[in-house]
Amino acid sequence: MLKSKLIWVATVVLVSVVAIIGCSQDKKSVDEQKVVKAIDIANLDTTVSPGDNFFKYANGGWMKATPIPDEHSRWGSFNILQEETNANLKEIVENAAKESGEKGTPKQQIGDFFKSGMDTVTINKLGYQPIEAQMQQILAAKTFDEVMEQFYVLQSETTMPLFVMWAGQDDKNSSMVIAQLGQGGLGLGNRDYYTDTDDRSKELREKYVVHIAKMFELVKQEDCNARAQAIMDFETKLAHSSMTIVEQRDPFKTYNKITIPELKKMVPVIDWDKFFAALKIPAPAEINITSTPFFKALSKNVKSAKPEVLRDYFLWHLITDRAAYLSDDFVNQNFDFWGKTFQGKQKLDERWKRTLNVVSGSLGEALGQLYVEKYFPPEAKTRMEELIKNVKLAFADRIEQLDWMSEETKAKAQEKLAAIGVKVGYPNKWIDYSSVNIEPDKYCQNVVNASKFQYSEMLAEIGKPYDKEKWHMSPQTVNAYYSPNSNEIVFPAGILQPPFFFKDADDAVNYGAIGVVIAHEITHGFDDQGRNFDKNGNLAEWWTKEDAEKFNKKAETYGVQWANYKYPEVSETAHIDPELTMGENIADLGGVTIALAAFHKAIDGKDVAPIDGFTPAQRFFLSYAQVWRQNIRVEELARRLKDDVHSPGDARVNVVLANIPEFYTAFNIVDGKMFLAPEKRIAIW
Ligand SMILES: [Zn+2]
Repeated sequence: MLKSKLIWVATVVLVSVVAIIGCSQDKKSVDEQKVVKAIDIANLDTTVSPGDNFFKYANGGWMKATPIPDEHSRWGSFNILQEETNANLKEIVENAAKESGEKGTPKQQIGDFFKSGMDTVTINKLGYQPIEAQMQQILAAKTFDEVMEQFYVLQSETTMPLFVMWAGQDDKNSSMVIAQLGQGGLGLGNRDYYTDTDDRSKELREKYVVHIAKMFELVKQEDCNARAQAIMDFETKLAHSSMTIVEQRDPFKTYNKITIPELKKMVPVIDWDKFFAALKIPAPAEINITSTPFFKALSKNVKSAKPEVLRDYFLWHLITDRAAYLSDDFVNQNFDFWGKTFQGKQKLDERWKRTLNVVSGSLGEALGQLYVEKYFPPEAKTRMEELIKNVKLAFADRIEQLDWMSEETKAKAQEKLAAIGVKVGYPNKWIDYSSVNIEPDKYCQNVVNASKFQYSEMLAEIGKPYDKEKWHMSPQTVNAYYSPNSNEIVFPAGILQPPFFFKDADDAVNYGAIGVVIAHEITHGFDDQGRNFDKNGNLAEWWTKEDAEKFNKKAETYGVQWANYKYPEVSETAHIDPELTMGENIADLGGVTIALAAFHKAIDGKDVAPIDGFTPAQRFFLSYAQVWRQNIRVEELARRLKDDVHSPGDARVNVVLANIPEFYTAFNIVDGKMFLAPEKRIAIW
């Protein structure tokens, strides 16, 4: 869980750190699944003109018939597939829980972990006892130095207030892993929530303070409101010195490698020898500071805080880190703020789904190993590898045909494309979790034990060559990623299912869905961030100056299209932030353009008949729109416009397709709200 939060990978969908998976939909039987059509025309709304709003045309019927379950903040293809995967995973963990395997085996760990999370009698009897000893230690600290001692203790327990340290590839020497330091310590995550002046941000700030106070009451503290406000004031100070998400998208701004003596000078308030000792690692030779303004201001920010405020701030981070694994009163208060207020959810997810999600995040590959044995057919891997090969060939053709790029840059782009590594399904080598102690009646401690294991395994990589076999997502994840440092695309088994991947459907449907996902991930290697990395995953300038300028100009014009996409249901001024979403938007445009070219190659010379009255080209676009169909709550939409580097689903369909000439011909569109005159359409890749 920790690792996936820290690594920098560009994905198809953002896996939110506050999202809790689950809903009340029952698992479909195998027979029912077989008859589900790849594209069901009942999902369309043919009263909408495809040239006005293709997202609604393709999905309107489904949207009307499919309300968002109370436990969810949005509901779409990703969620539904996740539900089906959950049902399969549930069977695995329940069987493991019954069989009680030998200590230290994946079966024992998965089974006992799940059991511990389902044992509400024990969990509720314990209340907040799992954190009480540590809490008392923190509360006993009086002086500034005593309080700071607690900071190091918390590090060793993987609670990380103030900032985070992790191990990651060196952006300028990607074959090596180095220590990295990043800004952090904000309960609300994104610094904008502390600094923005819109009504929603103000409301969230007020409710966050109330939430902290309520949690303090639950651990029987006094004077909770004032203490909560002081914590908020301290976090606000940290926020003001933090970089924005947009600033952090610039890989040059996040690369500042320094030595430990330099670090000690930059951030004297931290006793770095104690810090590394707490993490049980030697001081690294060098360390990358990903947020210089934050660390430059940190000493002043920390020193200017009263010891009791700093103490409460540390205590707060311990409580909020562990709340989801404590008794019901903590879980419910947690949900009240993060689920209801923040995301608009109506109801807490069923316990088995929450527990499953925690087990999956904590022992990802142990569960993944059992999952793929049962649910990942080898044919899926073969078919997928063939699709990837075709998409790569189409990408190479496109590069050759680009009218705006010089031969010099094209040759380098081809080299980078050819060097892209591919991983499908699951890792060749599994993580060995056997040393992690998992017991059937210690839920919170199990989470901490797994987290400590993951973290120390990661830190052990510092100063060593990067392990190329490593995966940054577990096999059961419904998602995919591109890693700029490894120059590789990765497709876990979880996403190789309908509606992304149909083993037996027509080419149009597969190229419109998983084909676009493949091309999307490859395009990340050539988006506004990815283009700064060379074929070996190192930050390097491989473009001619003119080509880089042309690229930036195109991206800027394209960005205006996104900025004009408004969401009046959120507020009068709400719109997509083109800088925040630029990488994903470029990947979507490349995704559709290149998958379409690959699709044409695949059906070249074949006589492909229409299905349900739709031509192959029409089915390609319908399949694409189906992937992004969703209903979303307004609170969640507002949150994502601020936090998510991906644009909302409707825009991913409508803005992107308006730039694709063949979309217009496929549906005979000559005007309409989406219509862009040919000279206004953007093509980058
Ligand atoms: Zn992406």
